[in-house]
Amino acid sequence: MPELTMTIGGDAAITSGHFGVINPASGEVCAEAPECSRAELDLAMDAAAKAYVDWRGDERRRRELLGQVSDLLFASVEELAPILTSEQGKSLGDAKLEVFAAAIWFRYFADLELPREVIQDDDTAFAEVIRRPLGVVAAITPWNFPLVLASWKIAPALLAGNTMVLKPSPYTPLTTLRLGELLRDVLPAGVFNVVSGGDELGAWMTSHPVPRKISFTGSVATGKLVASSAAPDLKRVTLELGGNDPAIVLDDVEPSDIADKLFWGAFSNNGQICSAIKRVYVPEARYGEYVDALAECARGVVVGDGMEEGTQLGPINNKPQFDRVTELVGDALAGGARAVTGGKPMDRPGYFFEPTILADISDGARIVDEEQFGPALPIIGYRDLADAVERANATHFGLSGSVWTSDADRGAEVAGQLECGTAWVNAHLALAPHQPFGGAKWSGIGVENGPWGLLGFTELQVLYRSKT
Ligand code: NAD
Repeated sequence: MPELTMTIGGDAAITSGHFGVINPASGEVCAEAPECSRAELDLAMDAAAKAYVDWRGDERRRRELLGQVSDLLFASVEELAPILTSEQGKSLGDAKLEVFAAAIWFRYFADLELPREVIQDDDTAFAEVIRRPLGVVAAITPWNFPLVLASWKIAPALLAGNTMVLKPSPYTPLTTLRLGELLRDVLPAGVFNVVSGGDELGAWMTSHPVPRKISFTGSVATGKLVASSAAPDLKRVTLELGGNDPAIVLDDVEPSDIADKLFWGAFSNNGQICSAIKRVYVPEARYGEYVDALAECARGVVVGDGMEEGTQLGPINNKPQFDRVTELVGDALAGGARAVTGGKPMDRPGYFFEPTILADISDGARIVDEEQFGPALPIIGYRDLADAVERANATHFGLSGSVWTSDADRGAEVAGQLECGTAWVNAHLALAPHQPFGGAKWSGIGVENGPWGLLGFTELQVLYRSKT
């Protein structure tokens, strides 16, 4: 792979430091990424601040250029997808879908209107509420969907008139670095800057005096650090954090009708999705049937190197996460749970873990109470629906949840009791650019996507024209 460079002020930034990026399918270093120094971060922030002066002025041009970014992404699927697979581990097919999704997000925002509301028009005044950009946005992304989660930030932030310095996860910097290189030909210098480095680079960004907003996606623990780092300077923050999403199955469905959907709601991207199903509550009377049906799905899945034809699930992305899943599953088994499928790492290089269905387990086990973020799913029986809802809500998380039933109205009634940002009925992971996405409780502050996400990159101004 050719060496990728950071993008600062529209140019390649040649750095002296580098760090290795590991292909999780082999456990070997597959590329070197630039390590951004403090001085280089200052240059990126300065470039973004300078570019802001012009960029904020011409909404029509911004729209046009974001449309061009979308076209460029559609045209770059074949180039970007293998880079994504090599650093993230997901199958090439899923990597292509991620690039497509990023292109679709850019297209959506390129067409979205910035609202302008008239709040008074009488003899005394004409007053409007308008939306102004904030300035430089510092954006920080995680390793599970490096490209699409970046697009959720770049497209609305830039449309609103902000400029950006973006830092991908040190586990998956490559696709984002390449995106920065590609966009040098589309966006004016300094509008979009990409820097790469370790966690401390993220901390430098959140405490840096230039950005007026931090848009962060990652874990709850880091989100709290980001919030406190942004506080002394009263930077705006949007935090998209972790989840421990419950799926509650009601007593009026056939296990065979929904097992496949439940399975992929949990195991897509190898379980490494903030809003994936992390625990399933099923009626106790049919517990065995649900466990068997989900185990059947797990047994049929092809796990392998994402570059190989036919692979459905790749490895876990990185060693710490692999260790965490191994530990949580081990803890469950030691506590008396049963691994109906899987239960251990696969005997091969890289960070592969067998798709694991855990039975005979309940709340109180760490893998039920914490976010596992990997290919292991606990199935929990319940007798009383109200009790299941209470247990689903008995967590600091509140990202999303789902209810499964043959009666959609009953499902909506139960879904409305879930304390979370998105509550699905007979679906899970149904996300779209027009749908605001965010978490209740510790799962986040603010939302991304839709007009609501766009407004998060603005502040309102009352424009008052006196008529007297
Ligand atoms: P993480 O919090 O470890 O890292 C996320 C990003 O923050 C990385 O770029 C990292 O380098 C950076 N970072 C680390 N320490 C920092 C600090 N002190 N200050 C600023 N930045 C810092 O998360 P991760 O392991 O990369 O991602 C997995 C987590 O992300 C899971 O909890 C998952 O649920 C969550 N996630 C949430 C969403 C959402 O939209 N709600 C989407 C995807 C992932």
